[in-house]
Amino acid sequence: MSVNMSLPLQLVVAFLTCFVIVSHSSSLNKVLFDGDYEFIDLTYPFDAETIYWPNTRSFEFTKKDEGYYEDGSWYAANEFAAGEHGGTHIDAPYHFDAQGKQVGDIPLEKLIVPYDSSMLIQIGTQKSFFIELTSYYVCKAGLYNLENVKLDSDVPEYGCTAFVMPMKIRKGTGAPVRLAAVCPKRKLPDRF
Ligand SMILES: [Zn+2]
Repeated sequence: MSVNMSLPLQLVVAFLTCFVIVSHSSSLNKVLFDGDYEFIDLTYPFDAETIYWPNTRSFEFTKKDEGYYEDGSWYAANEFAAGEHGGTHIDAPYHFDAQGKQVGDIPLEKLIVPYDSSMLIQIGTQKSFFIELTSYYVCKAGLYNLENVKLDSDVPEYGCTAFVMPMKIRKGTGAPVRLAAVCPKRKLPDRF
């Protein structure tokens, strides 16, 4: 359905929309980028070493084009293929629950959340029955599960926000995730 508006009204609406977005983003930017927060990457890179569950296609990376054209310009593009459940990734509720949400159904407000170390499950290089059992109950509860989180950084226990950014595979049972924690920087007191 389209709404007919006069041009001046359209301009007013456009201006107000911009004003709201700018005013909100500038305050969020101030919080995030004034130097008091650190960004901690909790993601393993995807390459030939990435671990995958059995019977799952490992990460296949194919170089397609890479080089200079005659005019001196550079162009590079590759292809990749992989199973859903490998490396740092998300298990959508649908992974273990036929009525559960698929990756593409998980709303953003459920993916940018207070960081809680208990939600981050590390399987390292071991493929553990325990982890799969945990994932089963997490998914059955309508929650998502994160696997193979890179936990070699010292993440503060309180005050962090987790950004869980899976590849938005519409019908996915899981997906690769870029996972980050944004945390207040820890500072030593000026004086004791
Ligand atoms: Zn998985």
